[in-house]
Amino acid sequence: MQKVKIKKNDEVLVTQGRDRGARGKVMKVFPAEGTAIVERINLIKRHTRANPSQSVQGGILEREAPIRLSNLKLVCPECGKPTRAGRTRLENGAGVRSCKICGATFN
Ligand SMILES: [Zn+2]
Repeated sequence: MQKVKIKKNDEVLVTQGRDRGARGKVMKVFPAEGTAIVERINLIKRHTRANPSQSVQGGILEREAPIRLSNLKLVCPECGKPTRAGRTRLENGAGVRSCKICGATFN
């Protein structure tokens, strides 16, 4: 299985699909599905029905739908550029991700 290099709270760039070119923050990753929820990306409209007994108003609710990880590119927190994250092993043995552009390391 492919190692997930995109994590929660990462900033990502959408490289494919309707929201191509947009950036957003990762809210949740689903490693088994290979998808993630990204804030304000891949929004779907859900029509909700009014429910008087619970005083719920009917209407259109917008929410994020999962987007494939392969359609996302990590944005480096240091240089702000879309990058491919590499793996770097620190002297203490901990594995961190690293930016292929500026060389910054981050978790
Ligand atoms: Zn960088």
